[in-house]
Parts: sequence; structure tokens; C-alpha cells
Amino acid sequence: MVEIKYVPTICPYCGTGCGLNFVVKDDKIVGVEPYKRHPVNEGKVCPKGNFGYEFINREDRLTTPLIKENGEFREASWDEALDLVANKLKEVSDDDPNKVGFYACARSPNENIYITQKLARVACGTQNVDHCARICHGPTVAGLATTFGSGAMTNGFDSIKEADYIFCIGSNNMEAHPLFGRKLIQAQKNGAKLVVLDPRYTPTAKIADEYVQFKTGTDVALMNGMIKVIIDNDLQDDEFIKNRTKGFDELKETVQKYDLETVSEITHIAPEVIEELAIEYAKADKAAIVYSLGITEHSHGADNVMSTANLAMLTGNIGREGTGVNPLRGQNNVQGACDMGALPSDYVGYRKVADQETTDWFNEYYGTNLPAKPGLTLVEMMNAAHAGDLKVLYIHGEDPVLSDADIKHTKEALANLDMLIVQELFMTDTAQCADVVLPAAGWGEQCLHKAQEPPEGAMLDWKIMEEIAVRMGVPREKFHYESAEEIFEEIRECAPIFAGMNRERLDTPEALHWPCPSVDDPCQPLMHKDKFAHPDGLGIFQALEHRGPVEVPDEEYPLLLTTTRVLFHYHAAMTRRCKTLDNEVKTG
Ligand code: SF4
Repeated sequence: MVEIKYVPTICPYCGTGCGLNFVVKDDKIVGVEPYKRHPVNEGKVCPKGNFGYEFINREDRLTTPLIKENGEFREASWDEALDLVANKLKEVSDDDPNKVGFYACARSPNENIYITQKLARVACGTQNVDHCARICHGPTVAGLATTFGSGAMTNGFDSIKEADYIFCIGSNNMEAHPLFGRKLIQAQKNGAKLVVLDPRYTPTAKIADEYVQFKTGTDVALMNGMIKVIIDNDLQDDEFIKNRTKGFDELKETVQKYDLETVSEITHIAPEVIEELAIEYAKADKAAIVYSLGITEHSHGADNVMSTANLAMLTGNIGREGTGVNPLRGQNNVQGACDMGALPSDYVGYRKVADQETTDWFNEYYGTNLPAKPGLTLVEMMNAAHAGDLKVLYIHGEDPVLSDADIKHTKEALANLDMLIVQELFMTDTAQCADVVLPAAGWGEQCLHKAQEPPEGAMLDWKIMEEIAVRMGVPREKFHYESAEEIFEEIRECAPIFAGMNRERLDTPEALHWPCPSVDDPCQPLMHKDKFAHPDGLGIFQALEHRGPVEVPDEEYPLLLTTTRVLFHYHAAMTRRCKTLDNEVKTG
């Protein structure tokens, strides 16, 4: 009899985090089935969840380290490749740690991401570590941390089902986060009014009770206009403002110039619609804001995010079920990559690099001599490479040659490096540009919920990095783990927000949310219930001006471009290699 095994896992695509089960036959993943009792997706999945496993056992998986010589790749042994990488990283970082940089992989489990930032900080002594949130949800982390004191979504996913009014701006959930889109529909069935604001008439706009089209890049003006209407009509929550916030007077003064006519001219929304939006949002008992990359992927993305926080605090729509500011994340583990300290400004658990005491703590813990000065962001690293100031770049599971806006600039920057190291599953566009390619294990092959062995020749991500660190001279006992569980124990020691997440609790299907300071803390999703995460417990209003997009159409480039997602794809490296998905929408 053929034995079939089911191994629980999480979908590796969008940030909704649907629960799946790998179907395993003869020790190989042969399919997936929705996890019926999972709290996020309740047994449903979108096409990517259904067919997005098909890449796993493809024949073109990388299984041998590759070294480029005279413009051509040749196969190499692991020893040779690891020595080459370690020696180069050591040579350059000994000279100047600022000349090396790391891109962490936001598709990877937390343990791998933690080890990437540890390799950068401990083995190379650099704070130059970042990941793709910088160009998608970096503004969320910055904007919500400035206003609320914490950069995370304020409410759990199910909270939206209790909302009376949903203000969904720049978020095409029905394509980008389909199972969260399902929750929007459930909320509507419960009586919520769903208003979708988007420059494009998207599938999410189609299900809305009201769709408002507006000019891209004018979000701050719109929300300032709404704030003025709310204040002019005395609909603000005075109690909440007085007891829970500061900075209201400055906000009130700033929005005075955003009268309906001015805002209408900037946004291309009719004055009466702006007025209606403001009054309905303020009058709802429980109003929730949902947003995504439509407001963050702008030069003023953090301002847009802070405007949503202003609206929520102004009306007391925060700290209760059915309310809040709810950013929908792009990559499946972009939140985890921020949490794990793959940021040039933050160690694991959002402990600040710039705080000398915190850096002293990590220097003591890691045995390092790191500066209390944030490193380069992902964008700055690429610019530094272009300028010849960054010499070695280590890219783990990212494909900037495919996904960056200015591919010509990216290719020139990568070509300017002394060494580009790419740790990957497949020969991506970025891997093609590498000097060394390291074949890694993928989804279902490492850390938690392992369902099959990696293909022969590929190595676990954190093992690759451990080997490099040791070859660079880090004592093995300071960079050695027998399992992913051991890595997570170190994470708990370094980050108080994860201290209460022990293995026993993580192995239950119950969702655990940080902050989770102790094992008896319930770790529930609702944030800012009684106080905000700033030291004084107050939320901070931000007085913001409309700045508009940096790049506007002109004679040379007369087009206005914006980003979107396709239901059947998620970037390229994985979904383009899933036959069923690629049959639906050809991308190659
Ligand atoms: Fe995966 Fe997102 Fe689809 Fe859920 S909604 S199955 S997490 S791609």
C-alpha cells in the first residue's frame, strides 16, 4: 500500500499566510491540500496556494555550486565555493565593513533570515543588511513606528469581519491577497460598507460598495482633506485625542489649507465625495483602514502611512476589534524579515542600532564590535555598488534584476562589484549576474514543517551561512546550530517580543502574535488597546503636507505607471516554474 503523509505548512507566496498541508508520497512532495482548520484561510486557497508547489521538484533546481570564470559558470565543490566566498568577504570586510552588503530573503523562514543578519553583523562587522520591505512596506514600518510606536498591523485578520466601515486604499486584495479578500466579502455580509480607493478599477473595486478613483500619489492631500472635514464637523473623538495622543494642534493647523476645492483639484475626486468619505468614516462605530503597496510604493510612502494613522487616532478607530490600520504585506515573510533584524537600523525584535546601550548589548552577546550607526539600506547598497563604494554583495533569495524599477542601473551596479554572491533555488536573472551561485534548500525542505530532503547537492540556507562564518574565523561554538529550533531559542534570548513563544506554543495551530513577552502572555493580535507602543504610551499625530510624486509625466516619458499583481503569479522564480499557473498567464 502506498503511504501518503500530510505535513502542515504555510503558503510561500503572499503575506496572508494561508495554512496548507504538503501531500508527501515516497518522501517527495506531490501536492498540497488546504489546511481545513487553519484560522487564516479556513480550508480555502487561491490558485497560487493550490498549484504553487509545482516548482519544488523541477529538474532545473540548482544542485551544484557555480563559480563564474571568464564570463562562464563552471561547477565547483562546496568547499571551493565556500572558501572563495569566505575569503573574499573576510578580505573586504577586514579592510572596511561598509564595503560589504547583504540582502536577506523575505520568502524564507525566520530562522534563515536571523542567520543572514547574523552573518552580516557577526562575521563581517557590518550593519549593511536589508531586504525587499525597503521598497514595499518599509514605509509601513517607519510610518506606524513613528505614529503608534510599532510598525505592525494593528489588528488580526479576522477583526475586519467586525468592521462597520472599511476604508481600503491602494490595496487590490482580490488579486494580491485573495484569502484576505474573502474576509472583506465576509465583512460585507456582516453589514460592513466597503469603500475602495484606487487609481485603477481593480477586481477589488468591483466587489466594493463604493469605488472612488483618484489620481495616483495624492493620498496625503486626500486624507488631510478628510481630517479637515472631520474637525470642521466636530466629529473627532475628543476623549481619545486628549487621553491617548499628542500633536493634535499641529495637525489641525496643517490641514486648514486642505479645503474641499483644493483637495478635489489635487486628487481629482469630487468635493462632495471627499466630504462623504470623511463623514462616513468618522461616524462609523467601527471603521477599519486597509492598505497595501498602492500607498507605500511612493517616494512619500511613509507620509501616506502616517496619514492613515492620523485618521484612525483622530476618530478613536484603533485598539478595538473591527477598527485599526491594517497593512497587507506582500511577500509571505516580509514581516518576519523586519522582525528578525534584516534591517540596517534594527536588530532582531526592533531593538535599535542607533541606541548605544542596545548595540553594546549585542556586541557583548555576539562578541562583536559593531558601530551604533545604521548601515546602508537596500537602495543605498545598490547605489554604493554603482558608485564603486560597495565591493561585495550577498543576495539571498531575491531577484533585483527582475524586480527593481531601473534594471539598467541594477545590472550596472552588480557588474561593478568585485564579487556578487547569490544563494538561490534556480538560475534567476540575478543569479545569472553572480560570480558565485550557492544552491539552497527551499520551501518544505528546511526548518519547520520539513516534508522532503533538499535535492542532492543543495544545502540548508543557515548551514551555508554557518560554514561561511566559520571559514571567516568566527569560532564554531558562536555560530553553530543543530536545528532551526536552536536558532529560534537564540532569537527568543535576543528579542523580548518573542520571549514567550516557546516550541510547545509554536507547534499548536493557534496563531501567536507579538509582542509575546512571556510564556503565559496570551499573545493576542489586537494592538494599542490601552496605550500605544511609545515609551509614554501616547500616539503621535504627524502634521504632513502633500508633496506629490517625484517623477511626473513629461514630454520624454508621457506615461503614468503604477504597479499591480497577477492572481496566478508571484514574481517569477517559483510561479513561472509551476506549469498550471503559467498555463493560466504566460509570463516567459
Ligand atoms: Fe497563498 Fe496568499 Fe493565495 Fe493564501 S491568498 S493561498 S497565502 S497566495
